[in-house]
Amino acid sequence: MNKDLILVVEDDASVRNLITTTLKTNNYKYVTADSGAGAISAAATHNPAIVLLDLGLPDIDGVQVINQIRSWSSMPIVVVSARGDDSDKILALDAGADDYITKPFSVAELLARIRVMQRRINVSGQEESPVFVNGALTIDYAAGCAYLDGEEMRLTPIEYKLLCLLAHNVGKVLTHTYITQKVWGSSWENDIASLRVFMATLRKKLENGSKQEFIQTHVGIGYRMNKVD
Ligand code: CA
Repeated sequence: MNKDLILVVEDDASVRNLITTTLKTNNYKYVTADSGAGAISAAATHNPAIVLLDLGLPDIDGVQVINQIRSWSSMPIVVVSARGDDSDKILALDAGADDYITKPFSVAELLARIRVMQRRINVSGQEESPVFVNGALTIDYAAGCAYLDGEEMRLTPIEYKLLCLLAHNVGKVLTHTYITQKVWGSSWENDIASLRVFMATLRKKLENGSKQEFIQTHVGIGYRMNKVD
């Protein structure tokens, strides 16, 4: 992997310039592509640390670009999308994107998203440990227990499953469909409604004890576990 390199995929020259100028002033290295085919070949040639991917490209759809890249690489992909329609973001996340930014976005937001991905690279670069630690939260996978500030949490089996799924994907937005399929093996409307309830109680248990924000809700899309310090 080319550790400091960011691939910027954007066919709109003014947005591309905004992104590359931001990257340059913050000492990131980058390469650019202005089409889906160009993005796939640049991803293969340069092996970047992060891809910033516009979904509306002139040749092929951004979701197809994600599918292609995912056939050989798990490099972090952040979708940059002008579309207000959440269904595009959900398609992109289900295809394997890690995160998204909606246009218009601020420079601060772009840099924050990049930092989240960099932390994710640092985490996933290590061999997965049998014990997960994030702020006050510790999960001992082998024992099947979670602890908050050293106190064992009282979790239902589903809450524990949800917590582990989020922890395995810390920093990544997981869609409702993805989560319900992993936890219940299906994704009916009812499962998504139950998911909301389970998430609410899980979050209460996590955040009442620790005062740290572990679970971020993406309305209409899904959930992400934050890396807390
Ligand atoms: Ca575009």
